[in-house]
Amino acid sequence: MIIDHMPWWTDKNKKFADRCDKFCDEYLVPLAVDLLENGKDPMEIQWTASKVCIEQGFHPLMVLAEKEIGGLDEGYCGYTILNEHVGRAGVNINPLLTSVFGAGPVHLFGTEAQKEKFMKPLISGEKWASITVTEPDVGNDASGIQLSAEKDGDEWVLNGWKRYITLGCLSDYHMLYANTDPEAKRIYRHLTAFFLDAKTPGITFEKINELIGDVEMANSVIRYRDVRVPEENMILDDGDGWTVMTSALNIERLGIAGVVGSGMNLLETARAYGRRRVQFGMPISRYNGVQLRMADISMKLALTRVFVYYLAHLLDTGEADMFTFAAKSSVAKVFGTQSLAEVAQDALFICGGDGYMQETGIGGILKNGLLMQIAGGSNDILKLFIGRNEFKQEVDNRMLTPAVRGPTKEDAEKL
Ligand SMILES: Cc1cc2nc3c(=O)[nH]c(=O)nc-3n(C[C@H](O)[C@H](O)[C@H](O)COP(=O)(O)OP(=O)(O)OC[C@H]3O[C@@H](n4cnc5c(N)ncnc54)[C@H](O)[C@@H]3O)c2cc1C
Repeated sequence: MIIDHMPWWTDKNKKFADRCDKFCDEYLVPLAVDLLENGKDPMEIQWTASKVCIEQGFHPLMVLAEKEIGGLDEGYCGYTILNEHVGRAGVNINPLLTSVFGAGPVHLFGTEAQKEKFMKPLISGEKWASITVTEPDVGNDASGIQLSAEKDGDEWVLNGWKRYITLGCLSDYHMLYANTDPEAKRIYRHLTAFFLDAKTPGITFEKINELIGDVEMANSVIRYRDVRVPEENMILDDGDGWTVMTSALNIERLGIAGVVGSGMNLLETARAYGRRRVQFGMPISRYNGVQLRMADISMKLALTRVFVYYLAHLLDTGEADMFTFAAKSSVAKVFGTQSLAEVAQDALFICGGDGYMQETGIGGILKNGLLMQIAGGSNDILKLFIGRNEFKQEVDNRMLTPAVRGPTKEDAEKL
């Protein structure tokens, strides 16, 4: 297994990577074996894996958070290293990752008091958070959020629906975005972010959706009827919801792309199977067709890995300005998730019929690769954003011929 250290990692990063490696072999790989070979329930395994991560000090939120509030301060690089290793071990810890995404806005923008109150129990794994953006009529167009919040004294009253909320009915907090300016008088200042206690009266769970993936994720449809949330639970100010959401989504997208470790797991599966399986008198790894598939797997993983760790480095060193980072994190999310699904498909075909068997674990990763292209903003929409953003950048004329850039004043004078 080649999960090598990146040359720019600090000694701290390298030590953490070695600890993750050991932890995964000792605690998570046996769970993957239970899942794939002993037929254990995927839901049970993901909760057990999450619990083990918490107990052994490998909760991704703990890894990310600052020491003052009980975190390990391993930064975004440490967080990505952990995600990669968990993926290569062959298990998933969706409940923990969801909690990181839900807690993201408090981590980024919370006051000292909010961090103290909300982050500490989330970091210790005592509590869980969901991210609640999507509504029945609001998907990629998240600016169209309809769930309303009206001010009443020092509280806000919420009314509306959310759907597709991972862990919605199980989590302790909903990181919720509401419309506080239904007439949209203020451009992109009509949304407000609240960190809501999920036990507040007026919240009902209307349905748990059944998913096509291997793992149930308590995917919930939630109704909010006259739900009162104190002003002190607001993240930043009234009207800052869009800023909070888009900044947190950048981090979510890095987290999604960071699960490239599942791809490393597939690479090993394809390598082992390709070398072992003999057809027409030779191991199939010797056939060009199989080597070409393997090359695609290798190239996509190598590029995703470098780019994801580069982004983590930008965040850790404070070199990421949030606007340009949005385009970069979208590139990572689109390329990483699309690659994961393609890599899973190539690995499956290399393994032939065995690839279609539950025991190889490829099917679960393939379905996850499909989901990740939808969640956190569909890849198609993110590609539109990436493309539009490229056209917005200034043209650099230095390498362009007149035929491409059009004649300049100097060209005209020469004529
Ligand atoms: C398993 C699962 C878990 C999820 N967990 C959560 C969660 O925890 N919290 C949460 O808030 N949300 C969650 N989601 C929701 C997810 O983020 C949304 O599904 C996603 O944002 C896309 O929204 P949509 O499904 O409504 O698709 P839509 O926005 O309705 O899009 C449907 C299709 O139309 C295309 N499309 C739409 N507009 C355009 C356009 N302008 N140009 C070109 N194509 C366009 C899209 O690319 C897509 O192919 C989850 C979803 C799933 C499936």
